[in-house]
Amino acid sequence: MFTSSISPESLQSLAGGKDPICGKDLLPSTAASSAVKDGKTLYFCSTECKTKFDAAPAK
Ligand SMILES: [Zn+2]
Repeated sequence: MFTSSISPESLQSLAGGKDPICGKDLLPSTAASSAVKDGKTLYFCSTECKTKFDAAPAK
């Protein structure tokens, strides 16, 4: 269920869409995976990067 009040533009501007593992810039809509850490949503270019993050979340 999506609320129609949220536009794609506002979602993109909310995003600090950068893969913390490989440093690739991402949009939430194109991210393969995401995780929430310290109240911030992190995005990953692939499930491989997500797996690396899960293995070493402090880095
Ligand atoms: Zn990545």
